Amino acid sequence: MLKFPIYLDNNATTPVDPRVLDALLPYFTEHFGNAASRNHAFGWAAEEAVDFAREQVAALINCKPKDIVFTSGATESVNLALKGVFETYASKGNHIITAVTEHKAVLDTCKHLEKLGAQVTYLPVNSEGLIDLQELETAITPKTILIAVMYANNETGVIQPIREISTIAHQHGILFMTDATQAVGKIPVDVEADQIDLLAFTGHKIYGPKGVGALYVRRKNQLVKITAQMDGGGHERGLRSGTLNVPGIVGLGKACELCLLEMPNDHTRLKTLRDHLESELLQITDTQLNGSKMYRLPHVTNLTFKHLEGESLMLGLKDLAVSSGSACTSAAIEPSYVLKALGLSDDFAYSSLRFGLSRFTTAEEIEYAITHVRNVVDKLRQIAAH
Ligand SMILES: *Cc1c(COP(=O)(O)O)cnc(C)c1O
Repeated sequence: MLKFPIYLDNNATTPVDPRVLDALLPYFTEHFGNAASRNHAFGWAAEEAVDFAREQVAALINCKPKDIVFTSGATESVNLALKGVFETYASKGNHIITAVTEHKAVLDTCKHLEKLGAQVTYLPVNSEGLIDLQELETAITPKTILIAVMYANNETGVIQPIREISTIAHQHGILFMTDATQAVGKIPVDVEADQIDLLAFTGHKIYGPKGVGALYVRRKNQLVKITAQMDGGGHERGLRSGTLNVPGIVGLGKACELCLLEMPNDHTRLKTLRDHLESELLQITDTQLNGSKMYRLPHVTNLTFKHLEGESLMLGLKDLAVSSGSACTSAAIEPSYVLKALGLSDDFAYSSLRFGLSRFTTAEEIEYAITHVRNVVDKLRQIAAH
């Protein structure tokens, strides 16, 4: 039995896995203690649960539990990483290199730092959404303190050459930070193999709860120092004060454990479904794939249905919950800056759709989506022809 609308917007957020919910619920009720209460069993139980979650999170990205700082999500983790590095390494330099297709969490934080005296280089991407390593190296100056490039893009799923980027960064004595929100839990992410210094991600994109995330801060080989952006109480080794969100953290831990366990399976199954969806939809005339076909996440596809009006497309597809190539800003509906950076016109960006599959997506849902999109596009093209 299909339930409508069919949810294919899993890059925006995922449902909480029922096993995650089961794990975290007792920490609202029986085990409600404050993890910082050292004098009684309520506190100890909470602290123990947080310690266990920290191990689960660390295992997923191959780091030590004490390298993990719990936060309220990827936005906060990114803010802490960028602002924390900028403040700590001010005597070394003020130059940051990032890319135009980053999430707003990174771009807006960089904008903020520019007001505080930072120099920021925004690297362009090619038509596949990839940065150019030569261009990256050329952008480095003696004042460069940080390279911040996302692991995988939220709109296209395109995966950047992370290992090559970190190698270049370290050859020049520069820190490497990555927003890995879309990659963690979906593809193997290993901070040792990739030599990542700072890595941000969030619970609600990996079947965990909203409002909880983590920042990995390297200590091994190179001790990365960041300045806290939240003061008071000295939680999380002083890097992020504030009473810990114990249920959220327990949920994030469980979500990470499940991802580690189920990644190989999910990866293969979702890639098959995604490839099927994509190849069927690409048979519709005047349809194109956006972003690299080779370097991308297994469960995402971003397609342009040329010469259609984005709004009518979205209206027609009311049985599907997907994202379009536009974003509401305060003033108006704007074409996606990510798709525009790949060279798409405003019109092509508007008539693009992002499909993001999840652990819970079924073959039946994908069949329905194929038929539904085909019908809607056919109908709109017929109307346009008259
Ligand atoms: C969702 C997302 C974020 C923001 O995560 P929050 O937990 O909602 O703050 C940051 N970066 C990327 C790439 C994302 O997809």
